[in-house]
Amino acid sequence: MAGVSGSSGSVALVGAGPGHPGLLTLRAAQLLAQADLVLYDRLVPVRLLDHVPASARRICVDALHGTQPERWSEIYQLMIEAAQQGQRVVRLKGGDPFVFGRGGEEAEALRRAGIPYEIVPGVTAALGAGAFAGIPLTHRQHVSAVAFITGHEKPDKTDSFLDWAELARFPGTLVVYMGMARLPHIVEMLIAKGKSPQTPAAAVHWATTSRQRTVTAPLAELPAAVQQAGLKAPSLIIIGSVVRLRTELAWFEARPLLGKRILVTRPRHQAGEMMARLEELGAEVVLSPAVEIREPADWAPVDRALSNLSAYQWLVFTSANGVEALIRRLRQLGHDLRILGPLRLAVIGPATADALRRYHLEPDLVPPFYDSERLAAALKERVAGQRVLLARADRGRDVLREQLAGVAEVEQIAVYAQVDAISPNAEALAMLRHGEIDSVTLTSSNIARALVRALDEGALQLIRSGAVKLVSISPITSAAIRELGLPVAAEAREPTAEGVVQALIALANANEPEA
Ligand code: SAH
Repeated sequence: MAGVSGSSGSVALVGAGPGHPGLLTLRAAQLLAQADLVLYDRLVPVRLLDHVPASARRICVDALHGTQPERWSEIYQLMIEAAQQGQRVVRLKGGDPFVFGRGGEEAEALRRAGIPYEIVPGVTAALGAGAFAGIPLTHRQHVSAVAFITGHEKPDKTDSFLDWAELARFPGTLVVYMGMARLPHIVEMLIAKGKSPQTPAAAVHWATTSRQRTVTAPLAELPAAVQQAGLKAPSLIIIGSVVRLRTELAWFEARPLLGKRILVTRPRHQAGEMMARLEELGAEVVLSPAVEIREPADWAPVDRALSNLSAYQWLVFTSANGVEALIRRLRQLGHDLRILGPLRLAVIGPATADALRRYHLEPDLVPPFYDSERLAAALKERVAGQRVLLARADRGRDVLREQLAGVAEVEQIAVYAQVDAISPNAEALAMLRHGEIDSVTLTSSNIARALVRALDEGALQLIRSGAVKLVSISPITSAAIRELGLPVAAEAREPTAEGVVQALIALANANEPEA
């Protein structure tokens, strides 16, 4: 790698791929995870910055001052200075750095400055658009060649590098980058030089992302079709008979949550699975945890209970976080799982049960429905006259203890603290305020309350008007939302992450405009 010379600084010119967070190379993810400074282009999806350590500096180069040539020298300077100070710099570029990405010029600047560098290829937009629009760029029965063309040459260029007469004769698929502004001109030129006006053609907007839209038309009619559909940059233009295959091969644009931007508000360590699932369904996911999990203010009551476990017959968990926190504490105190041996274990629902199973512990009781009332009802019959240890958050509902208190001896310990997120994702909240979020998932009453505390009046107004929809995980959470004076657009049938996902799909289908 670039940093072969030990701890000295280096720069990696890294392709970020066309937009889909999964279309990043392993090498790119590795370099991002080790970066001290990341300089990224506007087209790079923010989601990719999740790989970057929180301590690293991130700079969007489009936000730098100056017009383009000055900005470029500013980018070079930033990269070079940081590397000279021993930092690991990632210059993250959309698609591939060497395909219309100025990667060549940037590498040259680094070479001149004597900075060690590495170049990591990325999935270029043409490949992303081909795959995600169902247009094979080559095909044995159609074409054996493909050309990548820029539709935007330097405006000051007097003699073009592009020979449109040659391109019109090119025996293969043409893929035009940066061509939207000059689309009518490009089409006119190709047809004037002999390309058939009937050649199948497509424009693919924001390929591989939730915002992907594709318009197809015979070449001569493409500019009008694009205009009618309101398609803008960034888009790729694909010209050639392979475009016809799309009618059979398209797959991505049928995803149920395509075009939906969804705000996920659970803590980061619990959000991964849900985010991946929503993305798989075509949504764009924005994460802004409304709450964070911390150590409890005081371990003393927990430690006392853990050193006296033989006094209890039941240990009850009301969240996966509780399981993690209690087991971590056990180990910090020098114990291991065997100390839980004689206890019966109860959990509130399947996610908490799974948390136990990750430690090869099988719960003795999972209520058939998942809320405190039903857990209490199910427990009541089993715990009468016994001693119950309740491991929970420092805030939350008191239902369990109240309901069990009549029949059993209940001790409650706060094994973790839940606090409002200290630094909510400012970008995500701004999106919410600007009406750029379709739905917000709320997976607990505490999360609902914390989110509302983080929002301003403008955002709340959008929620009240129904422009931003709240999707709740359970009747309890819905009640908390309504108590805050906000409407619930949909509620999960089953109080699980998958239940929330299904509610989002139902909501998307219900709002589908009847075209
Ligand atoms: N280095 C990049 C290209 C940069 S030029 C790459 O390899 O993909 C910028 C142009 O790329 C845009 O004007 C647009 O034509 C195209 N482009 C980039 N990402 C795109 C996407 N997700 N969908 C459609 N076109 C895209």
